[in-house]
Amino acid sequence: MKLAIIVPCYNEEEILPKSINKLSNLLKSMIDEDLCDSSSRLLFVDDGSKDKTWQIIEETSKKKELVAGIKLSRNYGHQNALIAGLSSIEADAYVTIDADLQDDINTIKDMVNAYHKGFEIVYGVRKERKTDTLFKRQSAQLFYKLMEIMGVETIYNHADFRLLSNRAKNALMQFKEVNLFLRGIVPLIGFKTTTVYYKRKERDAGESKYPLRKMISFAWEGITSFSTMPLRLITTAGFIIFIISIIYGIWVLYEKLFTDHAVQGWASMMVVLLGLGGIQVLSLGIIGEYIGKIYKETKQRPRYFVDKTTEVFKRQD
Ligand code: UDP
Ligand code: MG
Repeated sequence: MKLAIIVPCYNEEEILPKSINKLSNLLKSMIDEDLCDSSSRLLFVDDGSKDKTWQIIEETSKKKELVAGIKLSRNYGHQNALIAGLSSIEADAYVTIDADLQDDINTIKDMVNAYHKGFEIVYGVRKERKTDTLFKRQSAQLFYKLMEIMGVETIYNHADFRLLSNRAKNALMQFKEVNLFLRGIVPLIGFKTTTVYYKRKERDAGESKYPLRKMISFAWEGITSFSTMPLRLITTAGFIIFIISIIYGIWVLYEKLFTDHAVQGWASMMVVLLGLGGIQVLSLGIIGEYIGKIYKETKQRPRYFVDKTTEVFKRQD
């Protein structure tokens, strides 16, 4: 069985040499244990790094047969880097893992064992989040909860550490959308699925490439790519406001026609005006989000370009 371990890297020069070492030792031991055969590869995807990431990948690939790499023409983001890696190599099974090795690499063995038992998708799920900062933990929790409320099916505490069989990968490749959110798409593939558990460690070196800004935009992508719930909320809010304004209108009319203390004030006018105005703008904004997405999808732009690949990689395929 040929295994491909795919590692997206964005400015990871600090940690990469260590990661390459650990992963290639792991792969070697897996080959020795007959968990996979010697055609298995580690594929590093350089997502347009500005540091020495590509040089490191290229140099190691000359020394180590198991190591291969592709370099994307610019930074396309984690999700696209994963897709680029998956579609650049043919194997019987694929494992995707982050370059910082926060995910326990020994779990890969469990994943491959599950594959041998006939599972086609194996999710790596972290047991607890003790090592993350309180803020990261809370915001991640909020993210999963929000996704759930919005009706997006995701695997709790599963990031992009997973095994896909070749069949599952080919299925995944048929999702042509540009707004990629793998955690939402993979559960849509189906097939025999299981989870393996592991402890997540702290980043050994370098900084998180997911600052708050990217995390929020990632969550927003996830929600607007998978759910139309925000639109429905707006509709509901609009409906409620409509009902209230009718009741208010009736009361105003009643005051005007049947009592003599009617003070048809500027204030009440403004309240209604501003309230409705606000809602309208908000609705337009959200509808615009979706239209923006439709616009992006209809263009069917390519998701990435490969700049170069390592020598080993060319020889092999
Ligand atoms: N990454 C990438 N492109 C990007 C940002 C990140 O390929 O634009 C890679 C990064 O090198 C790492 C993985 O995606 O291997 C996850 O990033 P990070 O560890 O910074 O995220 P966190 O673990 O903090 O969520
Ligand atoms: Mg990380």
